[in-house]
Amino acid sequence: MSSQVSSSSSYSNVKPSVVDVIVVGAGFSGLYLLHKLRALGLRTRVFEAAGDVGGTWYWNRYPGARCDVESMQYSYSFSEELQQEWKWSERFSGQPEILEYAQHVAERFDLRRDIDFDTLVTVAHFDEGNGQWRVETNHGEHLTAQFVVMATGCLSSTQVPDFKGLDSYQGKTYHTGDWPHEGVDFTDQRVGIIGTGSSAIQAIPVIAEQAAHLTVFQRTPNYSIPTRNGPMTPDYEQSWKSDYAKFRADARQTRVGVLANLNDVSAMSVTEAERQRIFEERWEIGGTYFMAAFNDLPIDQASNDKAADFVRDKIRAIVDDPVNAELLAAKGYPIGTKRICVDSQYFETFNRDNVTLVDVSKAPIEALTPDGLVTGGQDYAFDAIVFATGFDAMTGTLLKIDIQGRGGRTLGDKWQAGPRTYLGLMVEGFPNMFMITGPGSPSVLSNMMVSIEQHVDWVTDGIEYLRNNNLDTMEPDRAAEDAWVTHVNDVAYETLYPQANSWYMGANIPGKPRLFLPYIGGVDAYRAKCDEVAAAGYEGFALQVVGQPEAVSAE
Ligand code: FAD
Ligand code: NAP
Repeated sequence: MSSQVSSSSSYSNVKPSVVDVIVVGAGFSGLYLLHKLRALGLRTRVFEAAGDVGGTWYWNRYPGARCDVESMQYSYSFSEELQQEWKWSERFSGQPEILEYAQHVAERFDLRRDIDFDTLVTVAHFDEGNGQWRVETNHGEHLTAQFVVMATGCLSSTQVPDFKGLDSYQGKTYHTGDWPHEGVDFTDQRVGIIGTGSSAIQAIPVIAEQAAHLTVFQRTPNYSIPTRNGPMTPDYEQSWKSDYAKFRADARQTRVGVLANLNDVSAMSVTEAERQRIFEERWEIGGTYFMAAFNDLPIDQASNDKAADFVRDKIRAIVDDPVNAELLAAKGYPIGTKRICVDSQYFETFNRDNVTLVDVSKAPIEALTPDGLVTGGQDYAFDAIVFATGFDAMTGTLLKIDIQGRGGRTLGDKWQAGPRTYLGLMVEGFPNMFMITGPGSPSVLSNMMVSIEQHVDWVTDGIEYLRNNNLDTMEPDRAAEDAWVTHVNDVAYETLYPQANSWYMGANIPGKPRLFLPYIGGVDAYRAKCDEVAAAGYEGFALQVVGQPEAVSAE
């Protein structure tokens, strides 16, 4: 248990074990939750496995880690003072600056005093007798709370493939999502990196500059767009700050929570020359805005093929070696259906003498050995191996906690065939347990800051509603949950996304049910649906008083 002493006047110097709300996680979701719950006068405790705030940006300290949403948009909007006073130094922020921002928020709103760091929540059981959650931590603390909010992150459980001989390797290993705080000096080292997803694509150019030799093991090539990062200019900053509230409001009404200047026509509705001109323009602007070049790239195969061809041609033009160029030119799945990557000099890096690309698509990595690894019958020796092998996304972190709802049913049992939620926010059978950016919400398909704020606002409004109406619990109806699960799936299959073996589909984890995890209907439509549900007295939810079996409506 933490020995931290609370300075809050509402607490004695021992933190209470009976509270209104327990929040798990102190990334951007947990921080904003604590701020809002405090404002409602609710006794709240936050538990965080890490040593400080920041979540993703605390853990992912690999070289080159950077945001793919512009700094002016990847930040909180809830405080006008905060958004006016904070100054970003670059167009796309690097991990250290985003972490500094999270730390600044924690300081500015005096949040740390209610957070226990280096503390894992291991157990959360719902007690039907009193409608309370019983929560345990890895330090043996037992707590009781009316509400539990899982702000545990979508990409917070690292995944290392179960390679044969993993433990036999004698060199150093690193995972991008759990990078040493002191950094890693690869000077003079032979380094191997496994994976070519977003994390690897950012790390490879930086590691290549330092290492004696870098060997990249690629199973599936990725589409990547140059970031074209640069310093923040005072004019650009001011163009946002002069009317920040309006721009934020506009972003909330887009599909992905980003003002990306969507070109609202089909790629097939313009001439070949015009299409190329527009793709070229977007390529020059850089970043994920490329996917907004036309309005049908995620849903129309012919349009998507044009965009994919364009990017493949760019890759072929950048990479000198034609064999490498062809290996790096992504194919076999539509562009954007695995998360589109952004990079700084990624493809150029393969023109360096000290970088080797090894294709493991046909001959997988067979085993790790004491010296390195073996694939295609060939041994590779390394001083260090970097796993850029991703995460057990969206469900992995939640399922690591022993969560039990009504009747002692575990979340793992409920989700055996894949996650089932209503609005990605709650699960039938698990009253008063909320998830921020849970499966079935737009979350990872959006600017996460926009999605996080929307979820936190909805959850805290819901809690306030219950309290104002003398209600104790809320829980989705089975029918509402079923309908939402069907809708999430239906919308996904209207797009090209299910064609890819992506983590969106759970395809990166052996044995994980294959279904589309986030909601792809758009943050705009999703927000409208959530607002509608709340305005209708939380339609689709049973609102109850403990001890009264009948669901009641407060209307
Ligand atoms: P997280 O930041 O993941 O925080 C969750 C916290 O919960 C973690 O600190 C974890 O330690 C803690 N936790 C989990 N389980 C427990 C437990 N049982 N007990 C105690 N603590 C627990 N999003 C974008 O919109 N744009 C981007 O460019 C972007 N880039 C990204 C780059 C990387 C490398 C990664 C991994 C993700 C990126 N994301 C991006 C997504 C990013 O996760 C979100 O933007 C956002 O930071 C999530 O905040 P969060 O608080 O919801 O979750
Ligand atoms: P990822 O996209 O899941 O990539 C993992 C990589 O490891 C893939 O190339 C995968 O190949 C490879 N891999 C996994 N197991 C392997 C095996 N056994 N053998 C060989 N290769 C293997 O993970 P990530 O790069 O960490 O990114 C995860 C998500 O975090 C991103 O999609 C994004 O949402 C977020 N992120 C964003 C940014 C950003 O730009 N802001 C940066 C980093 C991360 P396959 O494709 O063949 O499975």
